[in-house]
Amino acid sequence: MIRTRFAPSPTGELHIGGARTALFNYLFARSMGGQFLLRIDDTDAERSRREHESQLLEDLRWLGLTWDAGPDIPSESSFRQSERGEFYEQWMNRLREVGAVYPCFCTEERLAALREEQSSRGEPLRYDGCCRSLPPQEAQRRMEAGERPCWRLALPEGYSVSFDDVVRGPQSFPAGTMGDFVVQRNDGSPTYLFASAVDDYLMGITHVIRGDEHVPNTARQLAIIDRMGWLRPVFAHIPMVLSADRRKLGKRTGSTPIRKYRERGFLPEALRAYLTTLSWTPGAEADPFDLASLAASFSIDRIAQSSPVHDEKHLLYWQREAMKRRGGKALARELVLMEPRFEPLEERLAPLVDDVLDEAPFLLELSRALSFLWKRPAPKSREPWMQLLSTELKGLTPWTPEVIEGLLRSFMKNQGLKGRDFFHPLRLLLTGLESGVPLPLVVFALGGEECAERLNLL
Ligand code: GLU
Repeated sequence: MIRTRFAPSPTGELHIGGARTALFNYLFARSMGGQFLLRIDDTDAERSRREHESQLLEDLRWLGLTWDAGPDIPSESSFRQSERGEFYEQWMNRLREVGAVYPCFCTEERLAALREEQSSRGEPLRYDGCCRSLPPQEAQRRMEAGERPCWRLALPEGYSVSFDDVVRGPQSFPAGTMGDFVVQRNDGSPTYLFASAVDDYLMGITHVIRGDEHVPNTARQLAIIDRMGWLRPVFAHIPMVLSADRRKLGKRTGSTPIRKYRERGFLPEALRAYLTTLSWTPGAEADPFDLASLAASFSIDRIAQSSPVHDEKHLLYWQREAMKRRGGKALARELVLMEPRFEPLEERLAPLVDDVLDEAPFLLELSRALSFLWKRPAPKSREPWMQLLSTELKGLTPWTPEVIEGLLRSFMKNQGLKGRDFFHPLRLLLTGLESGVPLPLVVFALGGEECAERLNLL
C-alpha cells in the first residue's frame, strides 16, 4: 500500500510551499489508491504551538485535503511526535545495542569553536568525531557521575549515502560531508532527523515527497534507515518556490499564509489549481478544479526540476476561472448567505454575477459591486421621460433581459433620444453608478416595481 505523509512543524502558519507539499502528497497517495497521513512534527517543544497545529488542520481541511490518519483521528498511537516518546526510546535503545551510536560530551562552547573554525576555512559544518574515540568505560563513568551526553550516529568510515531522487536524479553524500550527527539531545529528546526516520518506518511511509531544502536531511535519515536495516522509502524533493526576485519565498519576499488568501476570498479550488502549476503541469484531460481528476492525472515523475516562482497574478487568474466555474447561480446563493438583503433577488442575480465576475472575482467584491440592488442610490436629476418609462416597465411581460432590452431600445427611439442621453441618466438613477452591469440586466434584477420606485423618487 502506497503511503505518503505531510509532516508540518507547528511552529508557524501554512504557506504556499507547505500547502504545495501537502497537495502533492495527497494527490500522489490518491492517484495510487494509497493513504495520505498527517503527522505533526513537534519535536521542537519551544517553538511548537497547539494554535498553529489547529490552524494547520483548518487550512488543510479548507483546501479539501483529507487525510486517512492524523492527530485528530482516533488511533492506537499518536500522530504528534511529542506524544511518541516511547517509540523513539525503544529505537534509541536498539541503536545503542548494535553500537550504531555513541555518547558525546562536547560542550556547546567546543562545538561553537569548531563551527567557527570550519566556517573560517570554508568547510562544511560537521562534527569532528571527537567523542567517538572515548573508551566506553570512560563514557560510562562520566554518565554515572551525572554528565548528560547527547547521542550521535557513528557513520562508518568511508561510508557514503546514495539514493535516486525521483525529481533530482542520483544523489550521493559521503559520510565526511555529514559528520556524526545528533539523534538524541542531551535532555533525552529525539532530534527531528531521528524521530522522523523512526516514524516514517513505523507508519509504513513508502514515498517521502517534500521540499528540496530537506535533501541534506534525507542523506542523514537514510544513514539511520540503512543502519537499522529498514526498507527505504522513495524520495521526491520538490524544488523550492521562489519569490519574483528569485529569492527564497519568505515573509519579506511575499509569502502569504494560506489563511490570508482564504480571508481575502480566494476559493480553495483556485488555490489548489494554482499550487498544482508550481512544479507540475496537469494533463490536458484533467479538470484543474477537481481533486479526483487532478489525482487521476498526477504522477511524481512529472514534477519539474526547476524552481517555480510564486506569482499572485497567476493565482488571480485561477481565482477568476474558479469563480466562473462556480457560475452565477451558485455564487448568487453564496451572496445571499453573505448578505441576506440579496435574498429577494436571488432568482434574478445569476446573469449579473456572471457579468461582473471578471471585474470582481471575489465574493466580497461581487457583493459590493451589486449592492446597489438592495441599497437605493440617492436620487440624482430626473428626466421628463422617466415616469413614462416606469409605467411601461411595470406592464412588461415576459420579464426577461432580452424583452427588457427590446423595450429600452424602442422607448429610446420613440422619445428621439440618443444613447448617451438615455442610458447614462437612467443608469445613474437606477444604480447610482457611472458604469457597470448592462442596463437590461440591472432592470431585470431590480424588477418592474423597484425600477418604477427609483425612477419616480424625485
Ligand atoms: N517537519 C518538517 C518541516 O516542517 C518536514 C519534515 C519532513 O517532511 O520530513 O519542514
